[in-house]
Amino acid sequence: MPDLREVAIISGKGGTGKTSICGALAVLAEELVIADCDVDAANLGLILRPSLRETHDFTASRTAIIDAQECSGCGRCAEVCRFGAVIQAADGTADVEPLACEGCGVCAHICPVGAIRLEESLSGRWFVSDTPHGTLVHARLGPGEENSGKLVTTVRNRAREIAQADGKGLVLIDGPPGIGCPVIASLSGVTCALVVTEPTVPAIHDMDRVLAVCRHFDVPTLVVVNRSDLDEGNRRAIAARCAREGLEVAAEIPYDPVFTRAMVEGRTVVEHSDGEVPRLLGSLWERLRGRLGLRARLECGGRPGLRGRPEEGRPGGF
Ligand code: SF4
Ligand code: SF4
Repeated sequence: MPDLREVAIISGKGGTGKTSICGALAVLAEELVIADCDVDAANLGLILRPSLRETHDFTASRTAIIDAQECSGCGRCAEVCRFGAVIQAADGTADVEPLACEGCGVCAHICPVGAIRLEESLSGRWFVSDTPHGTLVHARLGPGEENSGKLVTTVRNRAREIAQADGKGLVLIDGPPGIGCPVIASLSGVTCALVVTEPTVPAIHDMDRVLAVCRHFDVPTLVVVNRSDLDEGNRRAIAARCAREGLEVAAEIPYDPVFTRAMVEGRTVVEHSDGEVPRLLGSLWERLRGRLGLRARLECGGRPGLRGRPEEGRPGGF
């Protein structure tokens, strides 16, 4: 069983091109399992052309249910519910507004006649799909649902199991933006993180926050500057910050509308074009592959592809 490498691609803010870069790396890597952990807005499937194989319910929250036959109309549940989820009818009998209920269970605990039970409710769904580049595990959290960290963990665990069962050496994680619970769930225990940023003031601010999270969890980190030619001063500020912290800037990718054109076509940028951006992404993957200790695929004739298969006896450089 090969050692499994997990790489999380994250960004402090949305819109930096994280998912486009993740999709491109998935194509270049091959021999991998892809985990779309941006469960609030999963969109890796837009460029990886998934074919759905499995659908699973995700039940992580609970809702209080009142048995009207048992309810004596004492009103205690309405008094203790801090979320205003209990509605009392004119005759005193109580009912619960499911969208307002947080599933805390206080009402069930307090009800003198045991008329309230808590039932698990559907919070979202997670899926396993086939793509031309590897298995994709992805998910969709229901509107207004919490527990996104738990759903991220479910996606990661399943991706890891599939990788191990299929003998793949790499799980590539498209992480959510921000620094909250789902980001922490995406980062914990990974081999390394790739932080995608861009040279703008808000992106640098958010990069700083996400780098602090990586530092806190002791996750080896590389930085990718996308749209690197947007602002030279800010690009230099990112380079200086990374140098100060001993972080490698693994790629600087200039603005190129080829990303948008590839997205419109429903493909990754490395499938859409063979220009400068795919070349830079190829170099990025090669650099990452080297750090991970993954073996290069050798092809006759064409340009060398790079497989996510662990190189025998060579530990990763992290
Ligand atoms: S606490 Fe129990 S008995 Fe009292 S109103 Fe609520 S459900 Fe009915
Ligand atoms: S479970 Fe909590 S939130 Fe839901 S109705 Fe009961 S007290 Fe209110």
